Amino acid sequence: MKFETVIIGGGITGLSVAYHLKNKNYILLEKEKSVGGLCKSVADKNGFIYDYTGHLLHIKNDYVKKLVKNLLKKNLALKNRNSWIYSNNVFTRYPFQANLYGLPKKIVNECIEGFVESKLTAYRLPLTTYSFYDWCLKTFGRGISKYFMIPYNEKLWKINLKNLTTDWLGNYVPQPALQEVIRGAFTDNNKKIGYNATFFYPKTGGMQSLIDSLKKNIAGIKTDVKISSIDISKKIVKTNNVDIQYNNLVNTIPMPEIIKLIKRVPENVKKASRKLKWTSVLNINLGIKRKNISDKHWIYFPEKKFNFYRAGFYHNFSEALCPDGTSSMYIEISYRNRKISKEKMLKKTIGELKSAGILKSSDKIISECILDIPYAYVIYDKNRKSSLETIRNYLRKNFIFSVGRYGGWQYSTMEDAILEGKEITKWLK
Ligand SMILES: Cc1cc2nc3c(=O)[nH]c(=O)nc-3n(C[C@H](O)[C@H](O)[C@H](O)COP(=O)(O)OP(=O)(O)OC[C@H]3O[C@@H](n4cnc5c(N)ncnc54)[C@H](O)[C@@H]3O)c2cc1C
Repeated sequence: MKFETVIIGGGITGLSVAYHLKNKNYILLEKEKSVGGLCKSVADKNGFIYDYTGHLLHIKNDYVKKLVKNLLKKNLALKNRNSWIYSNNVFTRYPFQANLYGLPKKIVNECIEGFVESKLTAYRLPLTTYSFYDWCLKTFGRGISKYFMIPYNEKLWKINLKNLTTDWLGNYVPQPALQEVIRGAFTDNNKKIGYNATFFYPKTGGMQSLIDSLKKNIAGIKTDVKISSIDISKKIVKTNNVDIQYNNLVNTIPMPEIIKLIKRVPENVKKASRKLKWTSVLNINLGIKRKNISDKHWIYFPEKKFNFYRAGFYHNFSEALCPDGTSSMYIEISYRNRKISKEKMLKKTIGELKSAGILKSSDKIISECILDIPYAYVIYDKNRKSSLETIRNYLRKNFIFSVGRYGGWQYSTMEDAILEGKEITKWLK
């Protein structure tokens, strides 16, 4: 079998590559029984539909907006974000740094004093050259760092924040001006700031609907494929039943995994691959027999007493995701380099949701669906950039384009995945 382009991985990046290759000569190889990767949804027997935690379309790019609208047509809703932080026994609006209103007075004062101090200090180096830990202190001051930035990010990244760079920041962390911080400390300020103030979400079917409509426009998908190895000198992908010859290879599976599949990888590339770090996420999804258990979209939990960093409510994305008279939610727990007991985590999580007042002791949980995301967040430490460069150069030299959140080893969104998939086709015949 011979193809001009072989695409490995049928997540949204691989599907976007295939979609934009149109009628060209390609095949997409996916190891699971269905494509979609992290953008799939799971329908359980009780009528609940769960995504792989909250997957919301925050779209800035006009091309992507048009494409998504064309694909989903009337099955698309635009929502205004309603997200919060739960700490010190109160809910405050997201982002924490611009919405201190409602926190105990002592904490508000500490946050404002720290913020003002940070603005009065001149720094010798550009702020982004500091570690994420120091960047937080220098950008937001000691109070906001202590009560949100540091504990929340420690929980998410699971590394010492002094070892995390700021290369991933982009627009992800809103940086309000002093006036906004003050206004948000003394009034319940509903002005939405940040990259995710609005989002699109399918009216029915969860994020799977986007995958299904994308898939309809793609021929040449092969699922349930086990790749045993890749011979880059002969340009052959060996699978469980057939050898596939290629001219160009587009990789969208995690970088450490593609390196393991390639035969005779040079030692410096193997070494670079071993230096890549990431976090995994355990995603607990619950269906609850009570309507509207919360009016919020999602909530951040910075405090150590909660083992999860974020929880959200599917029923507020789309009523079609759960049966009448019920609610549904997702909980995200980050972990690294250890086995995690799903049962223990479930029990602990339910107890903690009750202690935060989100679940009542009388609540009946009628559906549970625990999904594991082994590769969730790429860690931007001091080794990432140089390791990535070594691996990417090696792959490029061998006609392998590695793209997407895990193929490109980056912090990126579905929108980025769609665009990257489109861009790469310019290099392919
Ligand atoms: C917790 C979390 C929340 C997120 N929330 C959002 C959000 O709200 N909005 C947003 O825009 N983005 C969000 N993202 C990011 C989004 O999920 C990704 O940008 C996007 O799904 C990446 O798609 P991908 O195709 O690059 O990777 P994946 O979805 O990981 O796809 C890779 C595919 O390759 C397949 N594969 C793996 N190994 C092999 C193999 N050996 N052979 C063949 N196939 C293989 C996998 O089965 C999978 O189908 C979130 C991510 C996480 C982890």
